[in-house]
Amino acid sequence: MPLFTIVNRETCISCGSCGDLAPDVYDYDEEGLAFVMADDNRGCVKVEEDFIEDVQDAFEECPSGSIRIAEESFEGDPDKFEKVTS
Ligand code: SF4
Repeated sequence: MPLFTIVNRETCISCGSCGDLAPDVYDYDEEGLAFVMADDNRGCVKVEEDFIEDVQDAFEECPSGSIRIAEESFEGDPDKFEKVTS
């Protein structure tokens, strides 16, 4: 099953958790806001198999719910699937 991830940078509180749990996937900009390294936070590149567990941990631990995961590409929109389901 493919996995995609993106950070909602409008709600990220720069806590540093995702970078600790999935250091190969998430990094921080100069303001401390997290982003996905692989695709400049567009959520359109599949997470590498080796990092899937780390991403799931980061998703579960993000205190602000800013990390999104899905089986399809986000195409740059962190709210893509929430809009569809609401
Ligand atoms: S865990 Fe969530 S709130 Fe913390 S830096 Fe990462 S995306 Fe931002």
